[in-house]
Amino acid sequence: MEHSESFRDHIPYEDERGKRKWIYPKKPSGKFHRYRIIVTSILLTILFVTPFIKINNHPFFLLNVFERKFVILGNVFWPQDTHLLILLLLTFFVFVILFTAIFGRVWCGWACPQTLFMEMVFRKIEYLIEGDANQQRKLSKQPWNAEKIWKRGLKHFLFAVISILIGHTVMAYLIGIDKTIEIVSQPPSKHLAGFIGLAVFSTIFYLVFSVVREHACTFICPYGRLQSVLINRETMVVAYDYIRGEPRGKLTKNATEQVKGDCVDCGLCVQVCPTGIDIRNGTQMECVNCTACIDACDEVMDKINKPRGLIRIDSLNGIVDGVKKKKLNARTIAYSIVLLLLVGVFFIMVFTRTDIEATIVRASGQLYQELPDNKISNLYNIQVVNKTFETKELSFRLTNIEGEIKMVGGKNQFSLASQDMLQEVMIIEIPKSQIKSLKTKLIIEVVSDGKVLERVRTTFLGPQAI
Ligand code: SF4
Ligand code: SF4
Repeated sequence: MEHSESFRDHIPYEDERGKRKWIYPKKPSGKFHRYRIIVTSILLTILFVTPFIKINNHPFFLLNVFERKFVILGNVFWPQDTHLLILLLLTFFVFVILFTAIFGRVWCGWACPQTLFMEMVFRKIEYLIEGDANQQRKLSKQPWNAEKIWKRGLKHFLFAVISILIGHTVMAYLIGIDKTIEIVSQPPSKHLAGFIGLAVFSTIFYLVFSVVREHACTFICPYGRLQSVLINRETMVVAYDYIRGEPRGKLTKNATEQVKGDCVDCGLCVQVCPTGIDIRNGTQMECVNCTACIDACDEVMDKINKPRGLIRIDSLNGIVDGVKKKKLNARTIAYSIVLLLLVGVFFIMVFTRTDIEATIVRASGQLYQELPDNKISNLYNIQVVNKTFETKELSFRLTNIEGEIKMVGGKNQFSLASQDMLQEVMIIEIPKSQIKSLKTKLIIEVVSDGKVLERVRTTFLGPQAI
């Protein structure tokens, strides 16, 4: 390519001295943009509606990191299920890596909340109030007259309202919709921490969408930075077909006599880019695969009667060698196997997960006791956590051996509320005739309403060789 290589010296939205250049992307339009509007509408509806969905009066989705309580698809996970959450996160990361290796940064442009809000909500408000890129530039340069104050004031007022809405939605995912409504509907003094949390979230979102903008993708989000190690020559990305496009050149009257590529160097693909890059320089870290440049270029190709797809979704191999969309290679097959294994193990663990978590261990430092009625007793500490949303009525029974369980407090049944923990001490008495070794294996069932919730294995100390 015969064009300047200066783009390598600085990021597109900073000048040579490192000062930020404000980006005014041209309003996007076209086939891909229409698809994005549909996808965005669906995803943002899901985002805003999910906190309101309940199953049996419990949230469908909750990520309460403060109380370490997570509800995913109606299943509640407590701190005791941390291993499941770690597995879920691991599965998610492998999925993202696999997805990126095959389809590039489709997540960034089409599903990431940052891009969806920035490009499809905040930027659209900006176009509506301030006009297209050139009008925005003009407004920015003009002095603070009535028009500028009104337009900027209205824009930032709407930005603030939407940021508050997003802040409250995020809070609803963290503490639940009921608590969020409670905080909002009562005086701040009653829920000071919650009120401060909402204010902080809303301010952060306002600053991200009105000031930080595309810098969030380049400097803050680690996913963008990972691209260079995740994608390969076969990854599908938004790519410029330089074989077909170069040498680029403006259309002139005698253009038909010159040997030129299909790129007429109109610069529209750069003007619509929300991160300010020139995709003709090749795949770059700043590209979020939003496809705005594809729409812009297709429109140009239509006008000059050339086939669409000079910029298209394709792999480097697809462009260089004309290799047709081969999506699987050794790396993606390996990722897929790991992903399938993780998903399989996760579902097995979720479906075999018990409603309670019970541990029964012999009291430390205690030996067995010989009782006058030819029995041996051992002392145990019990700990049971109720992982469900309901209160459980619990009792304990020995299953594999003849014997008796006596709770130290005298109670035989315990009411255990949701997420509560029961800590008790019990004595197990077993006839000497049943004891055959120093350590006899015991199985204790934790029962609720006649249903066995968990079987706990422990050992019973007794005199050897009786
Ligand atoms: S280069 Fe194209 S796909 Fe990438 S961010 Fe810019 S407009 Fe979007
Ligand atoms: S929009 Fe297409 S024709 Fe115009 S500069 Fe970009 S690649 Fe070339």
